[in-house]
Amino acid sequence: MTFRLVQPTSLAEACAILADEPGAAPVAGGTDLLSEIRDGTATPDTLVALDSIVDADMVGITGTADGGMRIGALTTIADVAAHDGIRERYAALGQAAAGLATPQVRNLGTLGGNLNQRPRCWYYRHPLTVCLKRGGDRCFAVQGVGKYLCITGGDRCFIVHPSDAAVALAALGASVTIASGHGQRIVPIEDYFVGPDVDLMRENVLRPGELLTAVTLPPTSEGQRSIYLKARERESGDFALVSVAAALTVTDGVVTQASVALGGVAPTPYRATGTEEYLRGKAVGEIDAGEAGAVAVADPRPLPDNAYKVPMAANLTNRAVARLLASVSPSS
Ligand SMILES: Cc1cc2nc3c(=O)[nH]c(=O)nc-3n(C[C@H](O)[C@H](O)[C@H](O)COP(=O)(O)OP(=O)(O)OC[C@H]3O[C@@H](n4cnc5c(N)ncnc54)[C@H](O)[C@@H]3O)c2cc1C
Ligand code: SF4
Repeated sequence: MTFRLVQPTSLAEACAILADEPGAAPVAGGTDLLSEIRDGTATPDTLVALDSIVDADMVGITGTADGGMRIGALTTIADVAAHDGIRERYAALGQAAAGLATPQVRNLGTLGGNLNQRPRCWYYRHPLTVCLKRGGDRCFAVQGVGKYLCITGGDRCFIVHPSDAAVALAALGASVTIASGHGQRIVPIEDYFVGPDVDLMRENVLRPGELLTAVTLPPTSEGQRSIYLKARERESGDFALVSVAAALTVTDGVVTQASVALGGVAPTPYRATGTEEYLRGKAVGEIDAGEAGAVAVADPRPLPDNAYKVPMAANLTNRAVARLLASVSPSS
């Protein structure tokens, strides 16, 4: 296919092109979008290259005035994974970034691209199967291969969100900055993603002409620890079958804050509120991590060939909680 490549030098110029041209798409590292173009699942007339934008706020990791961190959307996954402050204070994000895709993809792929990548459902990605998500009239996965799809939150379409970083950011309470020709807005990461019940054709709240420019992490509290665990079929270059990010704060031996998100189970990062409620307010010694895991997914509705994800989500959550609790001393 043919397309035009434009290289804006400012964010305003990029947003203006995206707003004016319905067939334009932003490209960052290109590791997802170019494969979509090759497979015929994306057919943009114009690619708007984000790496030509001269804007220091779009790239790099900096501290915020309140003690949190801000990550520009064009920061590579490799730079997120290697950043000492992220690894120490936001371990779940550091671990998610370090374990996703391959070194080549992490070197080129950006955080903004990772959060905005399109679903990996085989049928969606196949040039010959025009499913509901591509404007067709049926979901091929319902009676086809649903092994990698969701066990909760499906509605006509049963994708899982492919981003590991999104799951970690949900547990860490991050927010995203969205820019357009009209200014910018800040959205909590959990409100950024939308499932097929809200919109079959897209996975987030970005409107035409808008770009994700940054991710902001809130300050961490004393005694907070986080972890990211991912179950996958192959050690490298593989998406999560199920993943879990958990962030706990333990004060005087009691869990005062618990935030747990799952990947691979729902069309958007899934908040394990049952686990959070079980943990909150409990003394570390009273916690049964198995019970915390058992309530991770409320009312799962697996497809015929992905029921394995139900115990996998419970076991992975159990393991994450047990590891976090083992890392805190009762007096911390
Ligand atoms: C072999 C392989 C294995 C992978 N495994 C994993 C994995 O295990 N876990 C995981 O999380 N990911 C995985 N990925 C996906 C990979 O992380 C993404 O392809 C990458 O992060 C996308 O970043 P990019 O900058 O290349 O995005 P691009 O390909 O440039 O863009 C991706 C999408 O986001 C849009 N976009 C890009 N930047 C912005 C922005 N700032 N604002 C709005 N929209 C934007 C683009 O229009 C496009 O639709 C894998 C990819 C490959 C090829
Ligand atoms: S699950 Fe969604 S993306 Fe996959 S075939 Fe069904 S409609 Fe298409």
